[in-house]
Parts: sequence; structure tokens; C-alpha cells
Amino acid sequence: MALAIALAGATASAPTRAHGDDVQVVRAWFDDAHKVDAVAPLLGHAQVDRAKGLLRTEADPWLRAQLIAAGFRVELDRAASDTLQRTAAAFSAATSGARAIPGFACYRTVEEAQDRLDDLASTHPQLLQMVDIGPSWQWQQGSGGYRLRVARATNSAIPGPKPALFVIGSIHAREYTPAELLLRFVEDLVEGYGSDADATWILDHHEVHVLVHANPDGRKRAEAGALWRKNTNSAYCATASQQGIDLNRNFPFAWNSAPGGSSGVPCQDTYRGPSGGSEPETEAIAAYATQLFGDHRGPLLTDPAPDDTPGIFMDIHSYSQLVLWPWGFTEDPAPNGTALAVLGRRLAAFNGYTAQAAIGLYATDGTTDDYTYGELGVASYAFELGTDFFQDCQTFENAIEPTNRAALRYAARVLRAPYVLPAGPDTTQVRAEPDLILAGDAATVVAQLDDARQQTGTPPFSGPVPAVQPIASAAAYLTPPWLPGATAQPLQAADGSFDTPVEAATGAIDSGALAPGRHLVYVQARDSSGADGPVGAAFVEVVAPEDAASIAGTVTDIVSGAPLVARVEIGPWQTTTAADGGYARVLRAGSWPMQVSAPGFETALEPALAVAAGDALTRDVALYRTCAVLDDPVEPAAVSPFTPQAPWQKRAGAGQDGGAAWLQSASGDYANNLDIALASATLDLSGYSSVSLRFDQRCNTEADWDYGIVEVSGNGGGSWSEVFRCDGETQWRTVELPLPQLDGAANARVRFRFTSDTAVRAPGWAVDNVVLSAGGAECRAGQQPPVSIDAFDATPAQIVAGDIATLAWTTRHATACSIANSSDASVHTIAAPDLASGTFAVSPAQDVIYTLSCDGADGPVTAETLVIVTSPPPVAILEFVAMPPTVAQGEGSTLAWTTENATACSIVADDGGAPYVVASEDLAEGSLLVEPEVDVAYTLSCDGEGGPVTALAAVTVMPPLPPAVFDDGFETAP
Ligand SMILES: [Zn+2]
Repeated sequence: MALAIALAGATASAPTRAHGDDVQVVRAWFDDAHKVDAVAPLLGHAQVDRAKGLLRTEADPWLRAQLIAAGFRVELDRAASDTLQRTAAAFSAATSGARAIPGFACYRTVEEAQDRLDDLASTHPQLLQMVDIGPSWQWQQGSGGYRLRVARATNSAIPGPKPALFVIGSIHAREYTPAELLLRFVEDLVEGYGSDADATWILDHHEVHVLVHANPDGRKRAEAGALWRKNTNSAYCATASQQGIDLNRNFPFAWNSAPGGSSGVPCQDTYRGPSGGSEPETEAIAAYATQLFGDHRGPLLTDPAPDDTPGIFMDIHSYSQLVLWPWGFTEDPAPNGTALAVLGRRLAAFNGYTAQAAIGLYATDGTTDDYTYGELGVASYAFELGTDFFQDCQTFENAIEPTNRAALRYAARVLRAPYVLPAGPDTTQVRAEPDLILAGDAATVVAQLDDARQQTGTPPFSGPVPAVQPIASAAAYLTPPWLPGATAQPLQAADGSFDTPVEAATGAIDSGALAPGRHLVYVQARDSSGADGPVGAAFVEVVAPEDAASIAGTVTDIVSGAPLVARVEIGPWQTTTAADGGYARVLRAGSWPMQVSAPGFETALEPALAVAAGDALTRDVALYRTCAVLDDPVEPAAVSPFTPQAPWQKRAGAGQDGGAAWLQSASGDYANNLDIALASATLDLSGYSSVSLRFDQRCNTEADWDYGIVEVSGNGGGSWSEVFRCDGETQWRTVELPLPQLDGAANARVRFRFTSDTAVRAPGWAVDNVVLSAGGAECRAGQQPPVSIDAFDATPAQIVAGDIATLAWTTRHATACSIANSSDASVHTIAAPDLASGTFAVSPAQDVIYTLSCDGADGPVTAETLVIVTSPPPVAILEFVAMPPTVAQGEGSTLAWTTENATACSIVADDGGAPYVVASEDLAEGSLLVEPEVDVAYTLSCDGEGGPVTALAAVTVMPPLPPAVFDDGFETAP
């Protein structure tokens, strides 16, 4: 299947070439590694796989002829060449200017980088200074050019001496990614100072020196599309397009010392210059490094630098995904080679690159890192970023920049002893819980400890894989542990004992005496070999009670109401809700953004939470779920939203879950020369935001040659951009890719693209459980929270007829509510302001069931409450008597009564007199004197429940007596 290139019979000795014309990416196969050394001086850049006998490089017809003449079998890498041609076309179509590289918006130009650093230095004068270290070649010549300017980042308020990191970028001009990576590294540190704990202590106690553009003259040509490598020195080569000195072969240590390590032919890409250090760029960088680091190594090649030598030098290149250390000019190991390998493998764990001594690639001499290590003894590295000179921005943003910035951060943390500290466990994810306390309160610190994170491959010249030991101990410090008087506060293993290489640690910190303000807490761990690792840090803030407030609440799923374990960030502080969704914490008065997030849910943001001292705030937050806009469980029976281009297919039993997975063959390994897509149909994502793709995968391909690639399109497949690339992975893992470029896209597509080259097959890229999810208005519209009635009660639940009961309710998410009366079928409509909670007074005459009905999503819902109405007891006349019942004429009798439950009583005489109305205070018990002339019947009438009732009492009036006749014989006088 190899596509051999027909070549003109060029001769190996002719150094004439039309640089830039017809450049293709080729694979050159060799059967003898010495062939690589023979052509190495001709190669500006190459990927070399010695085990495979394969070299890959950009080559014009002249170089292709050289490779063939040297005994290589040469074939075209058509996909990579097409990309190269397309890039070239984009440049020729654009008008080149000082700003912005056509088609590569993520890479700032020389001028843009300078402006940005000047701005940063003027806004952060205590943290960043720009240091002029010398001229470029063109500047020196008086023909334009630039000053080389180092960004020196450190907190100048804290005096040194401090260990230093010196990083340079894009010394090879066409390497776009290094300069931008370094610029962001500086921005991240300087802008993170004060909020990012590690950035803060790094700048307090270390120095970071960054030369973003080490070859600005050359870079300016590369920004116009030239595959320019060298500086622009025109003194030695007559052909304008081939001029310049390879600055990374010009350094005055072991200059021109290795067979094939550089070229003496001025027009060639690795021309080393007339003498070591001949170029002003080289001179400036070498002098700056020497002044910065001093000399720590003896004169012999075999003299090691002392183990406690501080400082690191790094030279960032692209491409090939490599972490390299000295030597490059000899196969003898560097005298500090073992320690260099340990740090190199630690760094490579961040970016996943191959870690090896530089000679493992091919011989190089006069390089930057051989100089800084060889002359000064300082730990020195070269990175080869990514997979392209003109790397696409997606890959840079998603893969190269974050992983390599993390590697640089690690380097910045071990500067105090880079030959020692990397042997110990790393300390990450340090945080204080809580991260803000009232003065005098307690806090704990938690951290992840990891002795195992390192690149474990064994490429040529990588040295043995360092042993990994269990964590032995860890401690927290309130001052940097290396300072005199630092007090260790021992931490414990979260699982009870330190016995594995990866542990979580926790422990109380002595926070009681801390004054109000922000404090750094440092954590350092030791492994069982006794090696201490680099420190990690977190802030703990102490607030005076008079400046403090509190906040509490619950985070729930807006649809189900279920509690969520969510991250609650308020200003610089964060906390995690408990299993019941609840959180409660102390705040400092101020105005803070509040953000609540949980996996699978849309993040809720309150831009400015106003907090006054003494406040006790409540914030309950209900989160919307994100929606699956595309879901492929990849099971045989399920219809897939993806269209597979053969031989993509669902293979049963190949999934992580034991079911099916997408693969590139029905069985066994994939075929060679594949470039096949598994593409979604067009999706309308209008109204959606926070789009992200999640899938399980095992990318078991030939590393560095066969790839799984995820691409997205916002125009229905008209053009695609890469968002993810994988190769050489034997383990399943879950990949989560934010895809902001698809937010709101009406014609969005996603595809899984697999490419294989001409040789070496492997099991392939298994893809399973693919979900494209998104939030936004369109997603929210489909998940209105259901209406619910949380309470509906009558108080009191039982009344005496005529009394009043109060109906009270609380509801959620109701759009309308009403209360129906079972007795009279009347309906009371609840006013909108009272929907969530309110009261309604009722006074039923009899037992009534009141039904509250509320409308809303998933509604209506109802709730009932019963009001029991009891009757008052009936009116009764217990007694109504006349005393005495018989009177003589002219005498009085007393009517007396006792009643129950009477509301009104009156007494009527049957002699026709006016009724007597009993005063209310006499209703229950009373009396009335009467003096009837004749016999009278009195009727007491009382009203009340069950009334009226009556009772009768009569008074008999005795007539006057006749004259008395005494039987004693005497007669009274008339
Ligand atoms: Zn380079």
C-alpha cells in the first residue's frame, strides 16, 4: 500500500534547494539506525521511531532525494501533507501583517506578546518585570528586528535569593505553540497571584523567567506562513529562503561535537553557525542563564552537579510529543542522568509525552539544554509539543496548553531541589475545610498525595522507571517548610493508614491563633524511601466576627426536588453540599458572585450576592438538568444516531459494559490506511448552550501513528475542527469534552474519525456510551418543575358553628390554585401573590371538606382538609319557680330561674302585662320579684340552639280573709 514518490535523481552533496516549494510530509523507513545519524544534520525536525525503523519529517524534493540516497524507503503521508498544503494556501490568501496569524487566532504574534507582557508588567509591577537581555540579529544589524525580553515573575516585596526557572520558547521560529504556551504560563501565574495558592507561593519564594520569543526575527517570517526554523542571519548563505543559523545548534557547549549533530552547510536547516555562540540571540540567552544560575558543575563531562543544585532551564519546541533531557550529543548518560530522568518522567506524566534523553531521538550538538546543563549543571529539559508546527488551535487549546502548563507548574514547584524533590510524592488538591473561618475557629486541611504519577514507558535512553513507594507521612505548615522555625502539623491518612503510593490526607491545622486575613497552608509528603516531595498549598482565610456573615441553603434537582451533592462557590470560597443537599458557611461581607454546579446539571449563577456583616442569608438553589441531545448506548438493538463509514461497526461484546462498542473491524485488528468517520446527523442546537460530549473509550492504536480523533462541525459538515485526539491507550476511560463552539449551532455535527497509517495494526478505538448533552433555554423548557402542594391545613380543624377556621397552604411551582367547598360547591380562587403560601378564613355551618387544587407542570394536584363543625349544646331551662307560689294579696313572690345555653330569655305573664326581658347577665341564673293582684301564670321563654324552650310558674293570690271569729266566745269589735 506504500505510495512511493517518484524522485528526480538529485545528488546528496548538492545543498541547493528551493526551501518551501513542494514540501510534503514523508515517512522514511530504515533498516539500520546509523542511517538516521547520517541524515540527521539535514533534518530540521523529525519524528523517529527506532523500534519501527521509521522517520517522519517535512521534506522538499531535495530532502526526499537525500533520504532515498541514504537508503531510506520513502512514502508520502498524504493526510499530513494535505494539511500542510491547506495551511500554506490560507497564508497565501491572507495579507500578512504585524498582528494575528491568519487562520491561527490562538497564537499571538511577537508584537502582541510583547504588548501583553508590557501591560501585565504595568498592572502588576510588584510581580512582573520585563528584562532586556540583548538584541536579535536584525536589531544588531540595524535592520529592524527586536530586543529579546525576559518576563521575570516574582514577588519583589520578598527578598531573595530565590531558586529560578528559566524557560524559553519558539527558538525555532515555525514552532507556533511554545511561545503561546509560555505567554499563558506567565499570565496564569501573575493573574493567579493572591487567589491561586500555588501561584502565590511560587511567586513569593521562587523566580520564573520566561523568554516567550527566543527567535523573534525568524518568528516574524513564520507568522507569514514560512516553515522558517533558524534566525535570519544572511551572512553565510546566498539563497534568501535558506539563510540563518540554527540557534539550537549554536550554543557554545559541545558545539559541533557529535557526528551528525548539526550541519556545517550554511543553507541547511541545522546550520550551526561559524562558531559556538556566534549569534546575538545565543549570546544573550547563554549570558542570562549563566548570570541567573551560576556554575554548579565541575569541568569534566562526568562531573555531576550537587544534588541540591537549585533551578531549572527549559526550552520549549514543537512538535513530536517528547520530554527530553541531556545529553543530546553523546550516548553516555549525563552525570545527573538518573535525577534528570525522574523529573523528566514526572513532567511527562502531565502531557503524556515520551520521556527520554535527547540522544534517543538522534544526535544534536550545540543545543540550549546541553549548554545549561553542561556548563552550569542546572537541571535542563526540552519539550516537543504536540503534533504539528502550525498546530490547529483546537488541539492547542484542548490538549497541549492545559497539560503542558500543568507540567510547567510542576517544574516551578520543584525549583528548590529539582534533582531531589521529584523523587518524593507530589501534593495536589490541597484545600482547607472550611476555607474561611471566624477568628479563633478550627479548620482542617485535606490533600491528595501521589508518589506514582510518572511516565512509565521505556523508550531508548529513557533509563529505568523509578521505583514507586508508599506514602509514609505528610504534614501541614503555616510557613514554608524550608524556612527556619517552620512547624510541622502531622496529617493522617483519610483511610486510616498511609500504606499505598496514592493517599488522601487530612488533619487539623492550628488555626486558632491566625489573625484576620488570608493565610497559606503548605502540605508536604514523604514516601517510605524518606524522599520529601514538592509542597502544595491552599488558602485559609480568617475573618473577624464583626466582618462576618453566614449563608445556608439546600441545592436540589428542580424537577424531582431531590437533594444534590453540588459545589457552591461564593467569591473565592467554595464548599460542597452534604448528602441532604444542605450547605452552611461563613462569609466575609462584600459583594460576591455565587455559582452552584453539579455534574449533569446546568450551573446556576448569581452574579453579585450582596452580603452585609451580620447577615444570616438563605439561598436555596434548584438546578436544571442538562439534556441529552444525542444519546448512543451503542447496543446492537438500539438505533444509533451515528452513520458509520465502513469498516466502522458495532461489535458485540466489545463494550466497556460488556455490550457492544463502535470499532473499526468486525474482529481482530483494524486495517492499514484507514480514514473513516462515524458521523452524527445534523443536530439543531438552537437555544442550547453548555454543549458537551461524553463517551467511554479505549484508544488502543499504534501510538503516534494511528489516531482516534473527535471532530465537530458547526455548518452541517462543511468544515470540521478537531477537539480530541488519542492513541496508544490500553485502558478504558471516560472522555468529557466541552464543546462551546456548538452552543446555539443550528447545523451541528459530531464525528469520530479514525486514521491508520501504512503499518502496524492494533485492536483499535472502541467507543461506547456516547452522549452529547446541553443546557440552555431549550433544555429548560422541557423540564418545568412539577406543581406540588406541601401543606394544606385548617386551624382549628374543629369549630363550633359560627366560629371561624383559617385555611393555610404552601405550594411550589403552581400557576393557579383554588379552594372548593364540598358543602355548597362554592369555589374560592387564590390570588396570584398568594399562590406559594397564604390563608383563607372560613366559617362553615356544618362539616366541610375543602379541596385545594393547583395547576402547573404535571398538574393539577389537589389536597383536602376537613373542617368539623360542632353544634352548641341546646338551650334548657333547668328550673323556673315562684317562691312562694302562693301569696296574699299585696305580697310579692320571687320568680327564680336557672338556664343553660340561653341566648335570650323573657318572661310573659298571662295577665296581659308587657313581657319582661331578662338582662343578658341574668340569663343563666336570675330572679324577679312580682306582686300579682290575682292568680298569674308566668311563662319563661328562652332562645338558643334547639330553642325556644319555655317553662311555666304560677303564683296564686289568696283573697282577703273574712273577719276573724274567735271561738273563745268573745266577739271582736266590728
Ligand atoms: Zn525546535
